[in-house]
Amino acid sequence: MRKNKKLIIIVPCYNEEETLNYTVKKLIEKIENLSDKKSISEDSGICFVNDGSSDNTAEILSKLADSDKRIALINLSRNFGHQYALLAGMKTVNADIVITIDADLQDSLDSIDEMITKYHEGYEIVYGCRDKRDDDTFLKKTTAILFYKLMKICCKRIYYNHADYRLMSRKALDLLKEYNEKVVFLRGLIPHLGLKSTVVYYDRQSRILGKSKYNYVKMFELAWRGITDYSVFPIRLITITGLIFIVLAMLSFIIMLIYFVIFDEKDKLMILISAMGLFSGFIMLSIGILGEYIAKILQEVKGRPSFQIESTKNI
Ligand code: UDP
Ligand code: MG
Repeated sequence: MRKNKKLIIIVPCYNEEETLNYTVKKLIEKIENLSDKKSISEDSGICFVNDGSSDNTAEILSKLADSDKRIALINLSRNFGHQYALLAGMKTVNADIVITIDADLQDSLDSIDEMITKYHEGYEIVYGCRDKRDDDTFLKKTTAILFYKLMKICCKRIYYNHADYRLMSRKALDLLKEYNEKVVFLRGLIPHLGLKSTVVYYDRQSRILGKSKYNYVKMFELAWRGITDYSVFPIRLITITGLIFIVLAMLSFIIMLIYFVIFDEKDKLMILISAMGLFSGFIMLSIGILGEYIAKILQEVKGRPSFQIESTKNI
């Protein structure tokens, strides 16, 4: 029987002072509604992870936690990033079910009911996936589509348009604890757990309050981490590209031999310079990709904690 289990909603927060009161109101309403229906237990609640915010997020959350025991708070010692704030929450809370959601509530709260129903049906992980991305800017939409397509090629286990809005059961959380890697990309790591999983679809809203904390540099960094963390595809790409270049070089050499008489001295020099540029660029890129992997090995070998908790409330 999976009814009446304790749900904790984990919310990572980085400089979210504008959104918090609205977010708490909506999430508490949702929890009360679900517990009235006996879908979850009465001791269910929310856990905010303050990811080293520099605005009044910590103070607001601390007051909210003092006023309501259902609101827990984890303060990280500095800004570790969205993925690590989520990880800190997932590794710390004591619950039968966790749902992770962004503080701006762009992800529809209605899907929570559907996720809980799926949990009752026996699913251990429920991925929230966006139906459309109409509200995203053209650049964000295009880069996101490109990213998911590339991820699909690199590692098969990725859910299209799923962005860390998901339900996980205690069983899934316990399995996650066995993964000791320090650099994480949860969207790639969690499907690796296996277990009975499903997807719920929803329309993502625009941010009502506050501004996005994900700039393009952060988004690129996350996408790159996703690709290099979970696949050897970039290394394999070097081999494939290398082979293609060898074939192309041989072909052009043959063509050059045939047309040798037609080219004048200057054109030959231009061909040489552009070929050299192309090849040195290719070699540098290859070294760079290998370097990225070496850098990751270094990070893992050092074994530094992925996050540091400075203080907690109501945990
Ligand atoms: N976030 C975080 N640490 C960071 C950046 C973001 O905990 O370094 C949180 C942020 O407060 C929000 C979630 O991660 O709850 C997603 O961020 P945001 O809504 O800004 O991203 P977007 O929806 O624009 O991709
Ligand atoms: Mg957002």
